[in-house]
Amino acid sequence: MAIAKVEPLLTTRALRGPFDYRLPASLGDVGVGSVLRIPFGRQRILGVVVDVAETSDLPPERLAEPLEALEAGATPEMVRLGLWVAHEYCSTPARGLELVLPPGTGRSGRGPGPRFELSASLTPPGREALAGGVRLGPVQRAGLEALSGDGELAAAELQQVGVDTQALRRLEARGFIELHRTERARRPAIVDVGARSPRPELTWDQKVALVRIVTGMDGHDGRELLLHGVTGSGKTEVYLAAAQAALERARGAIVLVPEIALAPQTVSRFAARFGDRVALLHSRLTAGERRDEWERLRSGEARVCVGPRSAVFAPMRDLGLIIVDEEHDSSYKQEGDPRYDAREVAARRAEQAGAVLVCGSATPRPESWERMPRSDLPERADGAPLPPVEVLDMRIGSGREGPLHRRTIEALTEVRATGGKAIVMLNRRGWSPHLDCRACGRAWGCPECDVSLVVHRRDERLRCHHCGYAEPLPSSCPDCGSVTLARHGAGTERVAELLAEAVDPLPVFRLDSDSAAPAGAHLEILRRFDTSDQGVLVGTQMVGKGHDFPDVVLSVILDADATLRFPDFRSEERTFALVAQLAGRSGRGQRGGRVLVQTLAPQAPAIRHAAAHDAEGFLTSELERRRILGYPPFSHLMRLELTAPEADLAEAAAQVAHDRVQGRLPAGVALLGPAPRFRLRGRHRRQLLLKAPERDPAVAAVRETVDDLAGSRTLRGVAISVDVDPQ
Ligand code: ADP
Ligand code: ZN
Ligand code: ZN
Repeated sequence: MAIAKVEPLLTTRALRGPFDYRLPASLGDVGVGSVLRIPFGRQRILGVVVDVAETSDLPPERLAEPLEALEAGATPEMVRLGLWVAHEYCSTPARGLELVLPPGTGRSGRGPGPRFELSASLTPPGREALAGGVRLGPVQRAGLEALSGDGELAAAELQQVGVDTQALRRLEARGFIELHRTERARRPAIVDVGARSPRPELTWDQKVALVRIVTGMDGHDGRELLLHGVTGSGKTEVYLAAAQAALERARGAIVLVPEIALAPQTVSRFAARFGDRVALLHSRLTAGERRDEWERLRSGEARVCVGPRSAVFAPMRDLGLIIVDEEHDSSYKQEGDPRYDAREVAARRAEQAGAVLVCGSATPRPESWERMPRSDLPERADGAPLPPVEVLDMRIGSGREGPLHRRTIEALTEVRATGGKAIVMLNRRGWSPHLDCRACGRAWGCPECDVSLVVHRRDERLRCHHCGYAEPLPSSCPDCGSVTLARHGAGTERVAELLAEAVDPLPVFRLDSDSAAPAGAHLEILRRFDTSDQGVLVGTQMVGKGHDFPDVVLSVILDADATLRFPDFRSEERTFALVAQLAGRSGRGQRGGRVLVQTLAPQAPAIRHAAAHDAEGFLTSELERRRILGYPPFSHLMRLELTAPEADLAEAAAQVAHDRVQGRLPAGVALLGPAPRFRLRGRHRRQLLLKAPERDPAVAAVRETVDDLAGSRTLRGVAISVDVDPQ
């Protein structure tokens, strides 16, 4: 007897799967990865086969049979990967498995099916009918005439000459035409941003990197490589050549990019090089497109997959290569459950598949620097030197004028006079981040979160940037009636206006998640900046990512230390990356360029090293700091967050969690907290932090505690989330 061990696609934590089901022969070919519809208690739900066995611990009469086997499924290898993710990140098997199943397969059922296209062709009787004798209505005649040319026409084309599907069916019934149904994949549009350079002869450094990757693929040593090179040093060209090498070996390649919308150039370069063998997987696809791209990968029609973190689960067989571009980017960490890190998953998957993992960045993470063998691309491919960086002290009395330094204004004026473009980055959107009443001191905060509301002048609203709450911008204080309300600080809206004055009449383009919200607006803003002769692009981090504008001669960062002020051990690394990334985007063309960094902390190592383009120096000192403080990569961190509608309940739950985790922890693991975090979306939050020399025992202790607490009745209304390797 064949027994299927099935994980139900239910996310209830208290489940202890997998469950045994008897497999009747009538069900056909069922194996690991098959999706079954199963009776489960009184419900009928979907479940995934995670193992097949000969026997069960339960007597046969107590075993139910699945109701049907769906066509959809995952390979055994991917089932293992999904379960590994669930386990590593303290999630449930169902959540892990959903990552590797065909898109749309979930608790609610199956996703969209294939799309068929109807087409028609003329039969010999149809041709005769057209030639003479037979009575035809005007629509039928039009249809036959349209088809009398050469061959087959799609129903959509016939529709355009007024022949609808009904008319086609009638013609088919009379034997005058034949109808054909063919499967036609829905393909996502790939924006052509014109990055079509011919395939260049690789430089010596590029060749060295490529040889190491190819050697790894051919089964020799070195299955991991960190490709370290500034923007423009030719990393993407190495990726393209490596993917080519994989295809030549009949192996597939997965290319991860931080966010598809921010990487149109990478996508279009891969599409230009590999054509239909490229598939895109990302969240902005329609359900149908996603299904079809997934299917093209599964069938092997597409052998290169480009996408954000979730593309690490692409159903690619015979994987030879995984590339993680901009590997320092925090978007590789999933925010919701399971909070997986696509870089870790990529490493795991590459190991499983015997594939090579290539992580590329101008500003690698200290973890990667410490762990991975490395190839450097020390120079820009075009030979241009890196731009000089000037650090501007923004402390009082050092030449600042509002949010802009005097030197910044001078440099912008110079751009206006001598030509070229500028990019200005400020990591805060809106007009200003605080509003208060001059008379009584009232401050405007979000009713659901403990943060201040941000003034958005354009749409005259106050907005919460954490939960989306919004209210009209007040003209007077509701407490004291005063009309002297003060706006403090500057966001992108206000800076865009200041810049427009400073560089008038040059155009100023604002790019942030507000201005880029309408579909297509993001690329449109970039296109307008790209095609105008001169101008300034101002915006949040979005301006610093993924684009290549050869005529940018000035880059400015307005608040380089904003990220430094976060109470987080990664703030140094983030600040360095932010400054270095933007610095790398200036002066890519013939005219050279310069970079200005405004900061309140001109002496901070992250800023000093970034200004010197010294990634190695920064990483060496940062690793030393982490070694002393015992932070990753010299330890593993885990965060446990408990939230509740009332502060008391959150506090009590955090205490319980603390005590239970404590009881399970091996020696040497530090448990910090419970510490309050600011209230968010109406929920009070407490967090526990674990710092462990070894990962597995600590993850196990947390997992057991969470499973344990999930069933606890006294903790109703409490939500628990676990973040392994929090960002
Ligand atoms: P990165 O990914 O590191 O930013 P790219 O691969 O995009 O670098 O290369 C930057 C520019 O230099 C691109 O226009 C690319 O076509 C060009 N380039 C890359 N490698 C070479 C090379 N070996 N010879 C000439 N041009 C090159
Ligand atoms: Zn007031
Ligand atoms: Zn809020």
